Amino acid sequence: MLDSIPSFSRLVAELSKLPGVGKKTAARLVFHILRRSDSEADALAEAIRDLKRSMRFCARCFGLTEHDPCALCTDPARDEHLLCVVEEPQDVIAIERSRSFRGRYHVLHGALSPLDGVGPEDLKIAELEARLLREPVTEVVIATNFSVEGEATALYLADLVKARGIRVTRLAYGIPMGSDLEFVDEATVNRAVAGRREL
Ligand code: ZN
Repeated sequence: MLDSIPSFSRLVAELSKLPGVGKKTAARLVFHILRRSDSEADALAEAIRDLKRSMRFCARCFGLTEHDPCALCTDPARDEHLLCVVEEPQDVIAIERSRSFRGRYHVLHGALSPLDGVGPEDLKIAELEARLLREPVTEVVIATNFSVEGEATALYLADLVKARGIRVTRLAYGIPMGSDLEFVDEATVNRAVAGRREL
């Protein structure tokens, strides 16, 4: 019956587009929002609008930023010879939190997954190659996730980078197989970066 109310079903439909949110969860969230005050609902809508207005992806590293290029790309204190490749913007935050890396980053926005139809052209790989030509990178640290997709992506990138005569390393194991970098504790990320090995 509620499905016949356009404003209700519209918000349920929008929320169920979010990852991990099914129709049932979406409906529960909508009821929760309905119980809050007008100003709280406005604050939520405004926060979403403001986020989209102020946050963007850095045109150089494709990480999240309010200013393009981002602070990590423009910080002269960071080592431009070291480039760490990660899957998602959250991974940059995880590595920064561990204070183990002082170079620059490149965010792929995903990992290779032939079964899901994700090929090299769907990731920021051409952009990575362009950076390797333009920037004085001497070591690429591959920090894709330790999942089947992350490993496949690491091997693909290793070939591509080595073909340019640039050193390739991979974060050391110790990070549990199948885990996303963003959920790994700081000390483990720190050890994995410090103990990175040649690919
Ligand atoms: Zn950047």
